[in-house]
Amino acid sequence: MARRRVGYQVTRPGRRVEDPPVEIPVAADLKSVPGTPTRDNEITYYAREYPLESVAVEHSASSLWALDIREEAAPETAELYRQHQEEIEPVVEWLKSTGDMEPTAEPSGKDVTELIRARARELGYGEAGFTNFDRRYVYKSKRQYARGDLRNAVCLAVEQDYVATQTLPSIEAESAHGAAHLEQAKMAKELVAYIHSLGYRAQVWGPTWHFGAMIPLFVKAGLGQLGINGQLLSPHFGSRARLQVITTNATLTHDRPVDYGVTKFCELCQVCFMRCPGRAINQNKIWYRGVEKSKLDFRRCRPVMTRYSGCGVCMKVCPIQRYGMPQVMKHYIETGGILGKGTENLEGYTLPDKGYFRVGRLPKFDSEFFDMPLGKSEDLVMDEYRERIQDMNGDSEAREMVWAEFREKLDKALEKRSLPVDMGMDLGG
Ligand code: SF4
Ligand code: SF4
Repeated sequence: MARRRVGYQVTRPGRRVEDPPVEIPVAADLKSVPGTPTRDNEITYYAREYPLESVAVEHSASSLWALDIREEAAPETAELYRQHQEEIEPVVEWLKSTGDMEPTAEPSGKDVTELIRARARELGYGEAGFTNFDRRYVYKSKRQYARGDLRNAVCLAVEQDYVATQTLPSIEAESAHGAAHLEQAKMAKELVAYIHSLGYRAQVWGPTWHFGAMIPLFVKAGLGQLGINGQLLSPHFGSRARLQVITTNATLTHDRPVDYGVTKFCELCQVCFMRCPGRAINQNKIWYRGVEKSKLDFRRCRPVMTRYSGCGVCMKVCPIQRYGMPQVMKHYIETGGILGKGTENLEGYTLPDKGYFRVGRLPKFDSEFFDMPLGKSEDLVMDEYRERIQDMNGDSEAREMVWAEFREKLDKALEKRSLPVDMGMDLGG
């Protein structure tokens, strides 16, 4: 490995409002495209013909399955999630109401981008950027809630506690995840009041109640790039960023996507791919819904997440998360290598029932470990009902009983769909 030539420097505001700007040198051989490689016409086609849908709706059967499995495999985590659900429910109610809230002043009509950015940074958001609210990324079930007149998006990231994150997978890290959600709620209330005082509307998305896919907006606003772990790799805290979007009718200037060198860097790094306990991360990128990305295998990830406190090994072992983008990119220029790759410090992790996994070692699971119902819980209930009545003859009393059971199971499936998934990752109802 040899020293690399610097292609260009990216300058970003410091991590905290009082910190000086940081310089991120990008090696010439890491240059690709600003943001993520996309095909705009494909994004439009898929949004129209096959709209995105939330995990809580599209994969509700596995969310319900996870409730029972987790209770047995990780009861402490199950209890933590229940507590978080109680804390997050009033937050979600507030989020749902923000679209109807009225501004408290007359708008000046002036561009308020820098006023909102400064206030967001002052409140403690680590990253703040602006783009258009691209409705192609809105979930089908959320289209009815997302106001069409709020065409701009304020993208905001809060840092999840650094020390706790390095213990992933753990209860401690999941507690930090929940704490970041509550922090987001507190800051958003202040920022919404500020946007109202400038004379504009503000509809808040996240934590837990999301309009749809958030990462594409953050990438467009220049706040990071998509890693092969499927997460936003942001300049200061990599994938430790918890994301939130405020849509508004305020007059704003949009930021532009940035090439931090992440797209090419991931092709060389591959640490998350090599360390994923579920072998759920694909090494090779594909074009999916108009985006070139490494597509995560949900069926191999979810069973691991469920049993190991949300897993997150792919977050823990990412050098950009662990050491920060400036340090990782400087190291690459100086040595041509990936900072921390091949070290226990970066790559080692522990699964409670299986012990410590050093570099090069992965846990083994039998094939039943990955057995999990797929699709929507109501569809499974319907399939079961259809099978049962097909096997019956004309016994009308028995048919009535099966019908009553079907309705009860269907009600339960739909009711549980409105519970937050895992640590408030998503919400269907
Ligand atoms: S959460 Fe765990 S199982 Fe899922 S992709 Fe990340 S490392 Fe793999
Ligand atoms: S671990 Fe490496 S390959 Fe994976 S997302 Fe982070 S930088 Fe990219």
